[in-house]
Amino acid sequence: MNKAYIALGSNINPRNEFLEQAINEIEQIKTTSIVKLSSIYETDPVGFEDQERFLNQVIEIETNCSAIELLEECQMIERKLGRKRELRWGPRTIDLDILLYNQENIMMDQLVIPHPRMHVRAFVLVPLVEVNPNLVIPTINKTVTEQLSLITNEEKRGVVKWIKKDGEDGSKLTES
Ligand code: ATP
Ligand code: CA
Ligand code: CA
Repeated sequence: MNKAYIALGSNINPRNEFLEQAINEIEQIKTTSIVKLSSIYETDPVGFEDQERFLNQVIEIETNCSAIELLEECQMIERKLGRKRELRWGPRTIDLDILLYNQENIMMDQLVIPHPRMHVRAFVLVPLVEVNPNLVIPTINKTVTEQLSLITNEEKRGVVKWIKKDGEDGSKLTES
């Protein structure tokens, strides 16, 4: 069995339903099971800032899929959930990034693991620390907790635990 970590993100409504659907789909991948889920966080967009806020979550899985098979499965799920590739870092129904695959370093055209930007992203590190604080990022040889301590407070403030409110993200507005 291989252990992998996947980051999920959505900033098109209903954001939390896209996260839920993606998680259901990941559970259907052959020989794959979800071991742990982080809380859901609402996060400021990074890279291209003029867009809606994201919901982000990280999961730990066990799988017999190779890293490339896992990427293909994730891309299939992104397509199934209506992901369109228009703008780099732009709005998306669902984004599935493979953060880590065992402790492997993979450098292929279509797949780089550890995910090359994960260690500078508060919206990845905060949920990842929740799932496994002692996890080592092999390229930088630091634990995710150590790495998170290097992120500025300003960036960390942009990552807040998300609690579903009425009328948000696909839930029905109750008129009063
Ligand atoms: P970022 O990678 O900075 O988070 P993004 O998620 O918006 O940006 P995408 O358009 O979703 O980028 O993906 C671009 C390409 O990245 C994909 O086609 C995929 O082949 C490649 N890729 C490389 N490494 C990974 C990885 N670890 N997980 C997912 N995709 C990856
Ligand atoms: Ca991404
Ligand atoms: Ca991606």
